[in-house]
Amino acid sequence: MKGINYRVTALYLLLLAGLLNFSHCDVFDKESKVQDPLEEIMEHVEQFKKEATQRGFKLDAKVDALEISVQKRLVVDDEEYCGYVPLTPAGLYSNHVMFATNSGCWGDLSRWSHEVLVFHELGHAILDRAHNEDMFPNGAWVSIMKRRTGFGYTLYGDSNLERREYYIDELFDENTPAPEWAQQ
Ligand SMILES: [Zn+2]
Repeated sequence: MKGINYRVTALYLLLLAGLLNFSHCDVFDKESKVQDPLEEIMEHVEQFKKEATQRGFKLDAKVDALEISVQKRLVVDDEEYCGYVPLTPAGLYSNHVMFATNSGCWGDLSRWSHEVLVFHELGHAILDRAHNEDMFPNGAWVSIMKRRTGFGYTLYGDSNLERREYYIDELFDENTPAPEWAQQ
């Protein structure tokens, strides 16, 4: 009898996989040149793992255990977010990372700003970092952990990519010294 049960379960899983696959195609147009947000998010998550490894952190297992979801809009307690990590009942950051794909958030951001947004949320979920609103003398934000990341401003991009290394260093080590460009 166990064999029959197994076959029924396998058939059910096959059907379920087919349904999920179908609904996925339905939501994301395969002809579209715009990359599926979840697919791109996973590329930034892989990059986060590489950046962590390069800095001597062993976080792959923790990153792989994340639960990542995307939705059109993210509104929590009447406030709109581009990315969000819910807290556990104990008040710690959970391993659930949520992203909004609407314009004003993911839909309007460059690929570099997508990276900043994903790294910010992983700063909460993986590194247990809180927000940091500090600014440098030149007016640049000190940290990727600046609140409201994802809303229309960029920390680095094609025009100032030399800033990227500092911001990722600072993400993994809050005591990273201020970079040269921050003094100007
Ligand atoms: Zn945040």
